[in-house]
Amino acid sequence: FELRNEDLKDLQELGQGNGGSVKKVEHTPTGTMMAKKIVLIDAKPSVRKQILRELHIMHDCNSKYIVSFFGAFLADPNICICMEFMDKGSLHSIYKKIGPIDIDVVGQVALSVLEGLTYLYDVHRIIHRDIKPSNILCNSAGEIKICDFGVSGELINSIADTFVGTSTYMSPERIQGAQYTVKSDVWSLGISLIELALGRFPFSESESDDNDSDLSDLEGTLSPNRPLSMGLPPPRSSRTPKTPTDKNTPTDKKKDRRKSKGVSLQGGSMTMSILELLQHIVNEPAPRLTPEGRFPKEAEDFVDSCLWKDPEIRKTPKDLLKHPWIDQARVSTVDVEAWASTF
Ligand code: ADP
Ligand code: MG
Repeated sequence: FELRNEDLKDLQELGQGNGGSVKKVEHTPTGTMMAKKIVLIDAKPSVRKQILRELHIMHDCNSKYIVSFFGAFLADPNICICMEFMDKGSLHSIYKKIGPIDIDVVGQVALSVLEGLTYLYDVHRIIHRDIKPSNILCNSAGEIKICDFGVSGELINSIADTFVGTSTYMSPERIQGAQYTVKSDVWSLGISLIELALGRFPFSESESDDNDSDLSDLEGTLSPNRPLSMGLPPPRSSRTPKTPTDKNTPTDKKKDRRKSKGVSLQGGSMTMSILELLQHIVNEPAPRLTPEGRFPKEAEDFVDSCLWKDPEIRKTPKDLLKHPWIDQARVSTVDVEAWASTF
């Protein structure tokens, strides 16, 4: 059927993100519940039409690991994207509500995300570009699916122009301006899995050995679609331990603040924190599933494989589907449906 805005009844606000807001709506002619994402885009009509054409590919993305697509339309000045409503919400909102997520459930998340990424790439040559807990959704049938992948180059560009910046799930090579590859999604998956298992964003507090301040509040402040190399100094060798003198010197701060103007970030101190976090990702050892021994060895090893800083060494989603932890997840008896019924 042809989707029309007049046929959609607003029911409830589901959340707000970088690019717009998401509402639960009912498609009244059919009684179907949907999630309607409203993206405000400052672009010419020709670009908007191009975006709509590009979004059409989503009709062909059919996988049980991908949130399904009902259609998209223009509702000036917005673009509306209607998708399957996932009644248990995102893994982000779930862990915020219930705390750290059981590692066996995290294993099912890893399996589902890898299957979804492999499907998108093998069948459609699509790279997700925005893997994070708020783009991994769950429903009361116990299904785990990914959403918000980068099908439309024009949409990616328009959002990047409007909401400048980067996300903290971004891989070291992306921060340094390298091409996006499926392996960048694998990095983001590794960070997301640690966040779910620990119940907190991994780049925060105890992570660092000095008073680096809490970096978790930067999550999602910026959008992940543009390289940010212009705001950053050249990388230091990735395994060099930091010394009190090579970091946070007044000169560094001044330089960073000046350069960051080019990417028009928000306030002054916030800007510093974002750049510090990005530098941290580039320069410091990757986070791990810790403390050692708390989680199964296979889970620790899987996360380590996602978080190789060198994308040459890091595996693809398809390779990682063969990892022992994923083999275990496939035969696991964990009941995600029962788990989801507890919140
Ligand atoms: P972000 O992903 O950065 O949080 P979005 O605008 O993509 O921002 O989404 C906002 C929120 O809406 C998400 O965090 C999620 O909780 C909710 N949401 C998005 N899509 C759906 C969906 N299909 N079903 C249910 N909830 C959704
Ligand atoms: Mg999203």
